[in-house]
Amino acid sequence: MRDDRDPVAIAGGGIGGLACALALAQRGFRTTVLEQAREFGEAGVGLQVAPNALSVLDALGVGARARRGALLIERMLMMDAVSGETIVDIPCGAEFIERYGNPYAVAHRADIHGALLEACRDHPLVELRTRSRVIGFDQDDKGVIVKVACVASEDCEHLRAAALVGADGVQSRIRQILIDDGDPFPSGFMIYRAVIPVAEMPDDLQHPYPTLWAGHDTHVIYYPVRGWTVFNFGATVRIGDQPVDESTEAPLEEALAACAGQHPTPLRVMRAAGRFRRWTIRRRDPVDNWTRGAVTLLGDGAHPMVQFIAQGAAMALEDAICLAVMVEESDGDYAEAFRRYQDIRIVRASRVQTMSWMMDRLLHAGGLERRVRNSIFAGRTPGDSYARLDWLYQPPEYVRAPRKPL
Ligand SMILES: Cc1cc2nc3c(=O)[nH]c(=O)nc-3n(C[C@H](O)[C@H](O)[C@H](O)COP(=O)(O)OP(=O)(O)OC[C@H]3O[C@@H](n4cnc5c(N)ncnc54)[C@H](O)[C@@H]3O)c2cc1C
Repeated sequence: MRDDRDPVAIAGGGIGGLACALALAQRGFRTTVLEQAREFGEAGVGLQVAPNALSVLDALGVGARARRGALLIERMLMMDAVSGETIVDIPCGAEFIERYGNPYAVAHRADIHGALLEACRDHPLVELRTRSRVIGFDQDDKGVIVKVACVASEDCEHLRAAALVGADGVQSRIRQILIDDGDPFPSGFMIYRAVIPVAEMPDDLQHPYPTLWAGHDTHVIYYPVRGWTVFNFGATVRIGDQPVDESTEAPLEEALAACAGQHPTPLRVMRAAGRFRRWTIRRRDPVDNWTRGAVTLLGDGAHPMVQFIAQGAAMALEDAICLAVMVEESDGDYAEAFRRYQDIRIVRASRVQTMSWMMDRLLHAGGLERRVRNSIFAGRTPGDSYARLDWLYQPPEYVRAPRKPL
């Protein structure tokens, strides 16, 4: 137990920040999570939890809790929204599970975040603070002085910490100070999101897996969450540089018009949804540094990506466990640990970030490109698909539980 030292401060209590706090605490390091919101929680509804993400949740000891209410999917399906034909159909049964050590799940975000939050609340080495916005930091030879604005009172506190992890998401303040590479830019896409009560979802479209419809400049996805009580729905649409009103609801007519080229089947699901929230999809290109001394970045703060291969939260989880393993192996030399963490993680996370953006070309193809896309996938056996996914879904070797969890 190393709890006599200053804590590691973690800016942001999303999936990445909480996973990091838990992974460090389980290895004997005290942590303080500083979350700007009034309460810990997650925006949005559905989350695809790929096997590499489940492996991290298992290593953190929250896999069983995270699986509550989650659906272990039968297959991954991509349909052509122009012709209605199947483009990709990858079974996720016994062979998949055997190969990756875990199934593929879809879940409510709150269930995954909630499992981590519960475990953090139960752990004596994790302190959780809300209404605490990190606005800056200084480093000296004893560690980091974290400047925290209290959102309720506008007071400012200086917190002495051994190290600081910026898990503060796509608009990261810590990144702004460390790298200063401007705001994340709109990707040219927005998403219409909705939740459909199961009673309103067409019976013949209630499948035990996500259905993705790839259309020209749009894609639609839907899947059940929360023990089949609701369906998560998302329609991603290319909008160029048009502004997005995130503060009001979008009516059905607007969403239907934006997805005009889509197949009648996903449009039926859209009608069942009725109304939508709009959301700008932001992104950044990879950068070759996330770290300065005892301060580093994690998750969307380090490598924000478009959601086209559903791996952002998975990468945040992998970052968290890698960082904690490196801190343990460096016996609390944070500058050394963060250098090693970055060195190990930066290629894999940047590859996923890059691949996600490259999926734009495949998911949103039209005209001849659409037919070329379909020909690329035509005739692939499950084994062919698995071989292409091994690098992503097989958990890296550092995804492991501590020898004696504290
Ligand atoms: C539409 C969409 C669908 C997605 N689908 C998937 C999917 O299916 N599977 C998947 O793996 N990923 C998916 N992702 C990506 C995933 O949501 C993110 O990558 C993941 O949530 C990042 O977690 P994080 O903890 O790094 O950041 P966040 O979840 O953004 O958490 C950051 C936290 O920091 C807090 N904060 C911000 N600034 C400060 C500050 N200065 N001080 C204190 N607190 C601060 C915020 O309030 C927030 O709570 C999707 C993303 C989108 C947009």
